[in-house]
Amino acid sequence: RFILCRYPKSWKLPVISKVTDYIYVGNLNAAYNGRTLCRNNIDSIIDMSSVAGEPGPILSLIPCTCSRGTRHSWSRLKVDISDVPSALGDGPALKQRCFEDINECINASTEKRKRVLVHCRDGFSLAPTCIIQYLMVKQNMRLIAAYELLRAKYPVNIRECHQNVLVSLERALRPGGNVDPECFKQAISRKVAWT
Ligand SMILES: [Zn+2]
Repeated sequence: RFILCRYPKSWKLPVISKVTDYIYVGNLNAAYNGRTLCRNNIDSIIDMSSVAGEPGPILSLIPCTCSRGTRHSWSRLKVDISDVPSALGDGPALKQRCFEDINECINASTEKRKRVLVHCRDGFSLAPTCIIQYLMVKQNMRLIAAYELLRAKYPVNIRECHQNVLVSLERALRPGGNVDPECFKQAISRKVAWT
């Protein structure tokens, strides 16, 4: 008897990678794997794997069940961003608000030198997109540079809808910038073609 699995095999393994000293990117299984979180000393989690329609953002405290002597827990911020329909007029505005929540949460962690894991379901597109926009907005990185930083450490595969969000963000941050952000999309497709 076969049970149809909605997720590709790779989603079942915890995938986690360090992007900066305090920012980690990963998939759903990393975020629900106590050993992975403990081993990487993760303090807080930004969860973008939620099912559409869940009210958000929701902040909760997750106790760890490992056998380490001291009791510890993680704070988890659930943000529902994945299914904001960008076709609707308020799509970009909603996304913007989600990004602000995420950036505030990342800043709150990193300022205390605490490690934050940003994850979505598969870890390939949405979570990397959120980290890239954080690096662009809060650390003044160019889109291409932020993308390269992630790609060097983690198997990113940014979906076109997320590429579009990043390109319009780059335009908004650098109006009249000397590099056309559309080049970013060409750069990504070239890289995909070569790998
Ligand atoms: Zn633990």
